[in-house]
Amino acid sequence: MPSKLLDALLLAMPLSPTLESWRQHLINHLNYPVQGAQSLFIGDPVLVIVSFQQDRAEVLLPSMEWRHHDMQTTKPSSRGVVDEHSGSLEQLLALVEECIALRLKSFHECSRCGKRCAPEALGSLMGEPTCRDCLKGRRVLF
Ligand SMILES: [Zn+2]
Repeated sequence: MPSKLLDALLLAMPLSPTLESWRQHLINHLNYPVQGAQSLFIGDPVLVIVSFQQDRAEVLLPSMEWRHHDMQTTKPSSRGVVDEHSGSLEQLLALVEECIALRLKSFHECSRCGKRCAPEALGSLMGEPTCRDCLKGRRVLF
């Protein structure tokens, strides 16, 4: 999840005007909530992460894993890097869209209420994918 401290530290090093304009575009022109600063966490649940570095932007696919009952770890995997000199905002946006589509494909319907959920928000009930809300309701019944 977004690390505010890390973002604060990294923003001490200002981005180039090009990267800053790309960053502003992502914040203002995507139809998703955006959190973070140096790294943008786009969507809720997070669909794509765009990490701004000195002279480039990296697009990352978030993926979470169940460890124990409620613990999850984020292990983003890189989907590509756009260099501010050789790349363009269009390239960055294409990567972002590709990543969002890929992430949405990993979502599943809850077998009980039909809500589409991120894989990390789904558990399993008698072998069927079941969202946390339905699992919680189930626990109360026992
Ligand atoms: Zn459900």
